[in-house]
Amino acid sequence: MRPLIGVMPLYQKDNGNIWINPGYLRGIEAGGGAPILLHLSEDPAYWEQLCDLCDGFLFTGGPDVEPTLYGREKIPECGYILPARDNMEITMLRSLLKTKKPILGICRGAQLINVAAGGTMYQDLPTQRPGPTDHNQIEKAEFTVPTHTVEVLPDTLLSRVLGTEVLPVNSMHHQAVWETAPGLRVSAVAPDGLTEAVESLTHPFVLGVQWHPEFLWPEAPRQKALFSALVRACET
Ligand code: MN
Repeated sequence: MRPLIGVMPLYQKDNGNIWINPGYLRGIEAGGGAPILLHLSEDPAYWEQLCDLCDGFLFTGGPDVEPTLYGREKIPECGYILPARDNMEITMLRSLLKTKKPILGICRGAQLINVAAGGTMYQDLPTQRPGPTDHNQIEKAEFTVPTHTVEVLPDTLLSRVLGTEVLPVNSMHHQAVWETAPGLRVSAVAPDGLTEAVESLTHPFVLGVQWHPEFLWPEAPRQKALFSALVRACET
């Protein structure tokens, strides 16, 4: 039986539809897992049931994280917030971090891992951390095009998964990890020093990446390895 990987749904705010980019699901499938798209529910009992049901979890990209969740006041440059996803995902993550179930976070998912574990976020990079690397390539580049590199730090879970010290990545974010949560470490940085990946120091497989491997893996075996490593971690 392939490990069952629960995938957080995306939400379209103009019509309330939930949807998913198939790259997430196909990436899990190609990595040997059985993906299942979750419902965006407000029922905590459902969230708890999902935590028990699935072998592993993929926290997907999406809107900005509510700043009060990390003890900051919202600045005007902070973007669209979706409380339904914040509530469901933060609650599930805090519960899952107490287990050994594998978790991969992508973009918003990486940010949520940090917030759930007690870290903080830049709400808007141009405002709070201007730098030479342009991290927000939305409307400038396709998601399938890498626009900056990341340095993968040695002796990390991420370096074992990727097997490289330098990885080209796409970059579609205006927020990023600021203070790393207790119990997490930074495992990749951009050329400007910005955190591009975090992972747990204590949990066997909690990994968050700031870029979007779901668009890159068909052409990039190292990006595909992120999905297969998540699945493999469910089998051990
Ligand atoms: Mn970036």
